[in-house]
Amino acid sequence: MGRFAPSPSGRMHLGNAFSALMTWLGARSRGGSVVMRVEDLDPRCQVPGRAEAIMDDLRWLGLDWDGDPVFQSRRGDAYDEALARLAGLGLTYLCFCTRAELHAASAPHASDGTYVYAGTCRGLSAEEVARRSAVRAPAVRLAVPDADDPAGTVEVDDLVAGRHREVLARECGDFLVRRSDGVTAYQLAVVVDDAAMGVTQVVRGRDLLGSAARQRYLQRLLGLPEVEYAHVPLLMAADGRRLSKRDGDLDLGAIRARGVRPETVVGRLAHAAGLTDSDAPTTPTELLQGFSWDPLRGRGDIPCDGITT
Ligand code: GLU
Repeated sequence: MGRFAPSPSGRMHLGNAFSALMTWLGARSRGGSVVMRVEDLDPRCQVPGRAEAIMDDLRWLGLDWDGDPVFQSRRGDAYDEALARLAGLGLTYLCFCTRAELHAASAPHASDGTYVYAGTCRGLSAEEVARRSAVRAPAVRLAVPDADDPAGTVEVDDLVAGRHREVLARECGDFLVRRSDGVTAYQLAVVVDDAAMGVTQVVRGRDLLGSAARQRYLQRLLGLPEVEYAHVPLLMAADGRRLSKRDGDLDLGAIRARGVRPETVVGRLAHAAGLTDSDAPTTPTELLQGFSWDPLRGRGDIPCDGITT
C-alpha cells in the first residue's frame, strides 16, 4: 500500500506532482491501494481549503486514492502514545536549546544544511531540568547510540537510490520527536501514521532520503513494520535550483490556470524522468503498462523546462 502525504503549506509544484505520480504507479502497478494523509501538523498548515486544493490537483492529474483522508492534526493521541513508549525505553530527554544555541553548538551537516545536534541537554540533572522548565517550554529528543555503537548505524535499501547507510550520531545526532511548541516532530508522526494506515511503500522526493534512516530506526524501536522506500529525483528549475513552493509559476494552480491539460503534464513529466520514449500526452493509467523503477535509478534532478509550456 502506498500513500500520498502532502503538507498543505501551499499549492503542489511539479516536483510534488512527480512524486505523487510515482507513488500511485508504485502502488497501482502491483494492484495495491493508496491512502491519503494530510500532513497538517504545523498550525501554519491548517489553512482552510489548502488540503482540498491539493486533493483536487491530484484528481486533476488522474491520481486517485482509497478511503477517506487522514489528517495528522487529529492524531495527537497516537503520537502521545508513541512518545510515551519511547520515554518508557529511557530514550528521550528534554531539550531547552534555543535556535541560536543550536546553531552555535552544533556541527552543520555538510550535504543538506541541517545540523548534527551536539547533545547539549542530554546530561542535564533533574534539578536543572526543573529549573529550566519553569522558564522555557522544552522540546523532546531521542537519544541515538554513539557513533561506534553498531546499533546506531542504519541501512535502508531504497528501490531507486540503492543502499543508503547512515550513522545516526554523525548524520543528525539526537533528533527531535516533539518540538518545543508541542507539535509532534515530522519523523515520529510519519512512522506512527504509516504503520497505523497499513502503508508498506513510501515514495517521495530524494531530499527526504536522510529521513529514511531516522524513520527506520524509529520503526525498529517501536516494533512497527519496516516499510519499503523509493526516493525519486527532484525537479529542477531552469536556473538549476530545485523547485520549491516559492516557484509559484510552476505550481499546479498556475499551470491549470494557463489551460495546460493534465495529460500534457503527465506525458512530459514521465518522459523527462525517462519512463517513456516520447513526451506525448498520456494518463497515469496508461503508464501502468510496463512500469518499472529502473529508469529512475542513477538519474540526477529532472529539468522541468518545457514541461508546462
Ligand atoms: N509531507 C511531506 C512533504 O509534503 C512528505 C513526507 C513524507 O512523504 O514522508 O514534503
